Amino acid sequence: MVKSKRRLASIPNLVKARLALSQYRRIADNPIINTADNPIITTAVNPIALVFQGKIGLYNLGNSCYLSSCLQCLSHIIPLTSYFLINEYVKEILDRDGTNGSLGLIIEYYDLLKIFCIDSTNTKAVYPISFMGKLKNLNPIYINVEQQQDAHELINYLIYKFHEDLNRVVDKPCYTAKFIGNGTDDEEISTNTWESDLLIENSIIKDILGGQLRSQLKCSFCKKVSVSFDYFQTIEITIQKTKLRSRKGSVDLEDCLELFIKEEKLDEANKMFCSKCNKKSNGIKKISFDKNKVPMVIILLLKRIENYETGEKIKTLVNFPLENLNINQYCGGESADGESLPMRYDLFAVSNHLGDNMNSGHYTACARNLWDNCESKWYEYNDDIVNEIDDGDVVTNNAYILFYKRQ
Ligand SMILES: [Zn+2]
Repeated sequence: MVKSKRRLASIPNLVKARLALSQYRRIADNPIINTADNPIITTAVNPIALVFQGKIGLYNLGNSCYLSSCLQCLSHIIPLTSYFLINEYVKEILDRDGTNGSLGLIIEYYDLLKIFCIDSTNTKAVYPISFMGKLKNLNPIYINVEQQQDAHELINYLIYKFHEDLNRVVDKPCYTAKFIGNGTDDEEISTNTWESDLLIENSIIKDILGGQLRSQLKCSFCKKVSVSFDYFQTIEITIQKTKLRSRKGSVDLEDCLELFIKEEKLDEANKMFCSKCNKKSNGIKKISFDKNKVPMVIILLLKRIENYETGEKIKTLVNFPLENLNINQYCGGESADGESLPMRYDLFAVSNHLGDNMNSGHYTACARNLWDNCESKWYEYNDDIVNEIDDGDVVTNNAYILFYKRQ
């Protein structure tokens, strides 16, 4: 069947991504990949020369701190960076002529990763001029370097564009089936939805960042349940302000996730139609993580914007764990054996927004250098300045986008 073929096709790439770092470390055993004949790479990268420093800053080009923050966080997604560094992306990139996808932005990203990874103790920071130039060509929103932009929008945009470049699907079917379950067949419906989606979207981005949300609707009259699954790459979390902890003005990430999965009664304008009762009802909606499809890396956005017109910001401190965030309790549906294994995540990067208003202010990033085998120190990236920081300095009320990797 097509489905199983697709599944087989995607697994080796996932395994490759997972193994990439260890391959990278056992570089002496690996053949040097010859990229000299490839038109999109002018300089062949000798992996022996690569050591991920992860300590190189990016000069501000006007107001490009949002860009620096995004790039520092993205470059710390180890399986993705490994995928670039071992040149896997060359084999999969579709847009060799620069006619769609990121219009060559991905190559600029690769060039930046090479700089981040070349063992050059003299390089403290680089100017991301070529990257910015390609980004401006691609999207006029980014044309004015003097103008602050939203880091979350940029991250979504970059991963979407990189996905387009790296999508293994060339001929997309016009139609794919929609699967709806009854709450007792989650695993089957989840798998069918995922595999059906793979017929259209299938890339390393999806392998690493992709997950599914479980969406359940329950009829208020007959209690009939219908369940569907939706793909996600980033999750937006509302800051739970009604449950402030004793520490003045702070809230726990776990409370925000509780709010995220809280049941919600549909309002008059959004009533559901129940096929069993044959009438409209104020159904109960519940969104949660799909335990069958949690991502390898989860990107959580803390919704700090209070007012989109004025940019007014919610400055509440959200206490988030550096290690052992268990998302199992935010997964929906019945588990077959009544108990599920914990799904634990560790934090490795944070995009911070400093200032009172989301339309201005300054962006920085914190990231943990996981390439640094044993030490795994945290660094702060403030444009071109990179400094080691203590674990205790990572959680602040500037935290805007959290990057967690599954243990
Ligand atoms: Zn009903």
